[in-house]
Amino acid sequence: MKDNFDFIKKFRELFIKSPQCGSWTRQSENCDYGDILTTSKDCYMSFNSGDCRNAYYCEDSRKLTDSTDCAFCENCQLCYECADCDTCYNSNFCQDCTNCQDINFSYDLRRCKDCFGCCTLRDKQYCIFNEQFSKNEYEKKMKMFDYSNVAGIKFIWQKLEDFKKKNPRMNIHEHDTTNCTGDYIYHSKNCHMCFDTRHSEDSGYIYQANLDQGTKDSWDCGPIPTVMDLCYDVAYVDYLFKCKHVYWASRLKDSEWCVNCIEGENLFGCVYLRNRHDGFYILNEKVGEAEYMQRTAEIKKMLYENEIYTLYDLISKDFKQEQEDKKKRLGLGEKKVRNCFICNDEFEIISAEIEFYKKYDIEWPVYCPECRSKQRYALRNERKMYKRACDKCKNTLISTFPNDSKFVVYCLRCWHENLV
Ligand SMILES: [Zn+2]
Ligand SMILES: [Zn+2]
Repeated sequence: MKDNFDFIKKFRELFIKSPQCGSWTRQSENCDYGDILTTSKDCYMSFNSGDCRNAYYCEDSRKLTDSTDCAFCENCQLCYECADCDTCYNSNFCQDCTNCQDINFSYDLRRCKDCFGCCTLRDKQYCIFNEQFSKNEYEKKMKMFDYSNVAGIKFIWQKLEDFKKKNPRMNIHEHDTTNCTGDYIYHSKNCHMCFDTRHSEDSGYIYQANLDQGTKDSWDCGPIPTVMDLCYDVAYVDYLFKCKHVYWASRLKDSEWCVNCIEGENLFGCVYLRNRHDGFYILNEKVGEAEYMQRTAEIKKMLYENEIYTLYDLISKDFKQEQEDKKKRLGLGEKKVRNCFICNDEFEIISAEIEFYKKYDIEWPVYCPECRSKQRYALRNERKMYKRACDKCKNTLISTFPNDSKFVVYCLRCWHENLV
């Protein structure tokens, strides 16, 4: 049992020693400033996005061209300061607009053209604050609005905010969903409290699964989980099957408590490994199947007894809290309404969740969904870029890891080449 307790210490050693990838931008050109971009070109300070061209300060978006300051947008061109817009052209200061052109300061428009300060319109042209004008009138009136300076923008923005309050809106941003709660959820069914999620099913507390495909039968995942089945407490991952407590990973199966692993199965407490399909691994060491089964069961029990509930806890929990937490847990039993160990807010464990935990042998959570999600977000770097050297090849790289980061940081090429 003492060996098992060492698991926490050894995992932390492995984690702190292993190189971190300085930048996750892939198959992209001239996108050095920014991170997690794929198949993009000439972007600057853009994050978590794909297929973008000339996108500056954009995040969580796809297929943007010549656009700046956009978030959660898709397929937009020549747009500025937009959020949650889809297929818009030459539009600025817009939110939740789809298939629009030459619109400004507008909210929830669809198939509209030449509109200004409008809310919740469909198939309209030449409207100002929802009032219909002729082409000539519209052009004349538009000369009155000057938003070439900060004061002008502020004035119009405030006017729009007041106007928005008068217009009813949908309770949820969704499209093609069945039996879902949350917001910004598309093409999904049976999802509980999921946000920025697409193509997901029978899942709960999924955040930012909005890249390609989302999750199935998974709880507490994201940001950036794509294509996953039967997973719990995973973040920054794709192609995972039956994994728990796994971050920064790709193509893993039946693995738990892992970081920075690519391609493998039956990994437990492993860091910076790849291509392990040949057996069972604990803390990067190969073990026999029987030993794996016995030790992982013991370690899991030990982790729970030591208040390690999430990967975040395993990496960074401060043990001074140990005694106090233990007291709090006394008498918890099968209580479905609990007080979060972190923020003390009440939260409920719903029946779909209980079913998932049972099916997949997971202890019921003691942190509320919000604190759980905050922990997953806390493990990412701030969106600040630093020029630094790759700790292996010494080439200059631009990374969200600062020079004085406690981690060893490699460029993408070295990171992959040195995976063991
Ligand atoms: Zn909480
Ligand atoms: Zn390098």
